[in-house]
Amino acid sequence: MPVQATMSSDAADLIEIFSSIQGEGVLIGHRQVFIRFMGCNLSCDYCDTNSGNDASKCRIELTPGRLDFEELANPVPMTAVFNLLHRWGRGWPSIHHSISLTGGEPLLHVDHLHRWLPELREILPIHLETNGVLHFALSRVIKDIDHVSMDIKLPSSSGETGLWEDHREFLETAAATDVSVKIVVNSSTEHWEIQRAAEIIAGVSSDIPFIIQPETAENLSLNISSFGLLELQEIASALVDDVRVIPQTHRFIGLL
Ligand code: SF4
Repeated sequence: MPVQATMSSDAADLIEIFSSIQGEGVLIGHRQVFIRFMGCNLSCDYCDTNSGNDASKCRIELTPGRLDFEELANPVPMTAVFNLLHRWGRGWPSIHHSISLTGGEPLLHVDHLHRWLPELREILPIHLETNGVLHFALSRVIKDIDHVSMDIKLPSSSGETGLWEDHREFLETAAATDVSVKIVVNSSTEHWEIQRAAEIIAGVSSDIPFIIQPETAENLSLNISSFGLLELQEIASALVDDVRVIPQTHRFIGLL
């Protein structure tokens, strides 16, 4: 079941804060601070975001990338987040490329983001990872975001239907900054879905990077054949200039 986000006060419900290497999309390979917000407005079939999480607590890494977590009660005050980031900035200057806001769906917390982002952005550039649906929320904070990585949810892989127009409006809003689009595909993905996603992207700008991400099984095998991936890339490339196939690399190198 989707979890509702806390929308008042200067403390937000978070899952965790940690340092790792970005394993998806156009910023792949960059070291980032990940702030994972609690709750989502969708229920994708492949989602494992809330498995094993205690919603009453947030875990916070003390040393960047070393998995030495301490737990804080939710909601986590803004001051605790900023104290951590400033301490990391003093102790480990220059290791991080940017802050990744992820989830769940971070835009459910738009009231918090609206207050926090100007100061967060003074620490590091802001990278938003989003399911690409909440376009009204995005319009409130887009001026303080450096890069948006948005999903287009395909009915075949996510189980979510009827989101095409929301995705279109979201991408039109996100195009005010640097934006890329990601879709998760598997052996059930149908060609018309890739065609429709590519049409939405090309309708905004054919320069927008389009990332095709194969779904990865527990044993790290991909849930789609290599020929299947080639076919999907060929379909998308007829409409979009920059189409890349990128698996989730952080899982292959054993990172969060
Ligand atoms: S959008 Fe992301 S967090 Fe939300 S249900 Fe889908 S996979 Fe999970």
